[in-house]
Amino acid sequence: MNIEVYDTTLRDGTQAENFNLSVDDKIKVSRKLDELGIDFIEGGWPGSNPLAVEYFEKMKTVELKHAKLTAFGSTRHFQNPPEKDPNLQALLAARTPAITIFGKSWDVHVFDALRIELEDNLQIIEDSLAYLRPRVEHLIYDAEHFFDGFKNNREYCLATLGRAVAGGAETITLCDTNGGTLPHEIQPIVEEVKKYLDRLDRPVRLGIHCHNDSECAVANSLLAVQSGVTQIQGTMNGYGERCGNANLTSIIPAIVFKMGLECEVANHIDRLYETSRLINELANLPHNRYQPYVGESAFAHKGGIHVSAVERNPLTYEHIEPEKVGNIRRILISDQAGRSNVLHKAKKYGLKLEASDPVVAAIINELKELENQGYQYEGPRPALNSSCAAPWASSGDFLTWRVSGS
Ligand SMILES: [Zn+2]
Repeated sequence: MNIEVYDTTLRDGTQAENFNLSVDDKIKVSRKLDELGIDFIEGGWPGSNPLAVEYFEKMKTVELKHAKLTAFGSTRHFQNPPEKDPNLQALLAARTPAITIFGKSWDVHVFDALRIELEDNLQIIEDSLAYLRPRVEHLIYDAEHFFDGFKNNREYCLATLGRAVAGGAETITLCDTNGGTLPHEIQPIVEEVKKYLDRLDRPVRLGIHCHNDSECAVANSLLAVQSGVTQIQGTMNGYGERCGNANLTSIIPAIVFKMGLECEVANHIDRLYETSRLINELANLPHNRYQPYVGESAFAHKGGIHVSAVERNPLTYEHIEPEKVGNIRRILISDQAGRSNVLHKAKKYGLKLEASDPVVAAIINELKELENQGYQYEGPRPALNSSCAAPWASSGDFLTWRVSGS
């Protein structure tokens, strides 16, 4: 079964501190995610946010090539029948091909947050989904706090999933909402869930939605996939509430290049770098240069020994080829540089320089002396789009090297 990649940057992502996108920015992001081959784009919660209503209204005229736009909301309020529940009605008014609703899996939340009986919670899960089922093409159920609920009251937690299946959910997503679950806990729990669901009449797809509060969201998502989960939810650059969501810019290359799984994003994965950058730029946030796969430093080589080895065979110090995700290899010039760094730069800019030329040693000596005085020569990567580049950028980092100490 193909892996579905479900992006919630525009909903869960925008719950991150300091990460904000206007409606027009959200439309630009949606187009970009579609180009990347994302399967589901969760655009917002129309029942809770007027900006989300405006976004879904404008998206009615935007044609997406592959992605299915998804509206997000909760199960109905206990006091409202589904046809009179404003939240469910707002979801339908968004007229999206997919709807995701979340419900409570953890008995503590049923008592303390919803303040209803356990059976009443099962009822609202089933009849909210059953009401939506004939009215939307794709219906996903997010089991909120699933892993905490499972650890606290396994039987009840699994019963919530049973009622979601009875209500007609085509995908059941297991959420680590508080982000406290560790990798070794994922597989045994997913196995139990699969056993439980196998006993039900109707097959459903399983999804995973992890938060990063223990810095395990990516690892947990990959382990879930290894256990048979076929939908991964996450956000670009890992934006999300508190410490963020599972980072899709790390998950996507992992499932494509390392796990060899089939998914639509595999066909467009060289757009990953530009997608990551666009989102930061629209949100006016700095790029994290140390971010795996898409950071500027992800394929930057500084130490002289590393550079000479990478020149001979990039596999020596790179786990994948940078071009595969749209990134580039960078050879840095610094006080740790050796002959290979200088020769690499010279070749890159068409300068004839032999390894035996005494100039090479002289450049290295001068460089080390100047770095010792406080100068830095590790120039940034050239901008991809020269129309918006700084004046020096089209000439790459060579000129930066020449002028950055001044
Ligand atoms: Zn979440």
